[in-house]
Amino acid sequence: SIVVTGASGNLGRFVIEGLLEKIPAEQITAVVRSEEKGADFAARGVRIAVADYNTPETFDGLFSAGDKVLLISGSEVGKDRVGQHKVVIDAAKAAGVALLAYTSAPGALKAALADDHRGTEQALLESGLPYVLLRNGWYNEVYTEQLASVLEHGAVVQAAGEGRVASASRADYAAAAVAVLTGEGHENKTYELSGDTAYSFAEYAAEIAKQSGKDIVYNAVPADVYEGILTGAGLPEAFARILVGVDASVEKGELAGTSGDLSRLTGRPTTPIADSIAAALKS
Ligand code: NDP
Repeated sequence: SIVVTGASGNLGRFVIEGLLEKIPAEQITAVVRSEEKGADFAARGVRIAVADYNTPETFDGLFSAGDKVLLISGSEVGKDRVGQHKVVIDAAKAAGVALLAYTSAPGALKAALADDHRGTEQALLESGLPYVLLRNGWYNEVYTEQLASVLEHGAVVQAAGEGRVASASRADYAAAAVAVLTGEGHENKTYELSGDTAYSFAEYAAEIAKQSGKDIVYNAVPADVYEGILTGAGLPEAFARILVGVDASVEKGELAGTSGDLSRLTGRPTTPIADSIAAALKS
């Protein structure tokens, strides 16, 4: 069967929905951290497995020989994510799965956030398992989920200078994962997934202004000022520093790559940031 970890998350939900359109529900296993989190999938016939990256024994016997597995990277800041992901890789190796696809970070990304992904990629390559690296670029939603605050302050505040981002929607990245899990010939491939076009935060602000009819500017602040704004808004210091590091990478163009891999895998153009802004303004 096709097994998806992190199935209860934002990306995982899109992946399960996409799989349900292509294969029978009983061929899909959603790995969740509690039965309740998988209840709506179970009601539709999806198999549920309860496991936690922090508890290796919960993955014992979870996979079967021939399974295709999507390992969605963990989201717990401060945890040893490489160690967490190794738990899944080891269990997949022991079972003899046919494929392990991992949601990684762009190859060009040098920010600290990428370290866990590089470490996991290395562990996966060393496992000898047939792998796919889905090097996901940024989500449109990372930015549009902040829209209420942007509208309130009349400004997009980032520390990314004139840097550009080639983001795409979570649904786009999920569709690429579905294509890899249900298609053929993806073994040992690395895909640099990103939006078809890159935009600057000045362009992003202008698009929000256009759609909302409000005055919205891009306020490009220095790294230390941005860190102060984030911690002032209640973000833990370690997380704020990660986000500041990502913006530094944006400024250097590390998230601006437009390889075209994402639209090639899904067979459709990626979702423009303008569409994600429109969706966020409606919600
Ligand atoms: P979410 O935070 O919505 O989902 C994360 C998923 O991982 C959840 O299902 C969560 O389970 C699961 N998870 C976390 N820790 C564990 C654990 N210890 N054991 C088992 N499962 C665990 O993130 P998204 O779906 O939006 O994104 C997927 C991943 O992509 C993120 O986890 C992160 O690594 C990365 N990411 C990428 C971004 C990008 O722009 N490319 C932006 C943000 C994150 P539960 O529901 O129980 O919490």
